[in-house]
Amino acid sequence: MRQSIDKKLLIAVYSKDVFEGNLIRQEPPQCCGKVIDLYNTDVDFKDIKVSGNEFTLLEPLCPKCGTRVRANYHTIH
Ligand SMILES: [Zn+2]
Repeated sequence: MRQSIDKKLLIAVYSKDVFEGNLIRQEPPQCCGKVIDLYNTDVDFKDIKVSGNEFTLLEPLCPKCGTRVRANYHTIH
C-alpha cells in the first residue's frame, strides 16, 4: 500500500515522539510474530493526552493478516 509523502512525514515525526520520547513510550506494534514496518502499511493516528501533553500514537494494519494493531504505551515518569 502506498503512502503519500505527507503521511510518511507525519509517521516519522510521531514515531520520534512516541518511540523515542521521554514522557511516554509506545510499544513497537507487532503482529504475526513481527514488528510492523510503519512505512509499508496503512497507519491510523490516535491522539492521546498525558498530563497536559498531546501525543499521537500509531496504529498500523498488519500487512500479513490485516488486523488493526492497537497501540499500547506506558508513561515514563
Ligand atoms: Zn497479523
